[in-house]
Amino acid sequence: MPNASLLCLKSSKSHPGLSLHKFPTNPLLRSSWLKACGFLDSDYGPKRKLCSRHFEEDCFNGNIKRYLKPKSIPTLHLKCRKKLTYNIPNIL
Ligand SMILES: [Zn+2]
Repeated sequence: MPNASLLCLKSSKSHPGLSLHKFPTNPLLRSSWLKACGFLDSDYGPKRKLCSRHFEEDCFNGNIKRYLKPKSIPTLHLKCRKKLTYNIPNIL
């Protein structure tokens, strides 16, 4: 999976409404993220991030700067390795 480390980086540049979230340091939780994304544990790299698109609204704290709640797992739009058409919701 050669381009996996670029999973979400490009999209955040062209879509400023997105925030990027590092993979958790907790190995169990991180493993769940990786699985949810279709990655193996060995695919993990410290620069890898996921964008906010992959998390339900319920997973976030904060309004202006958004923080993921500690045990959130990505569940949405997990085909972002492919080219996506983004549909950014209006920010209220
Ligand atoms: Zn993404």
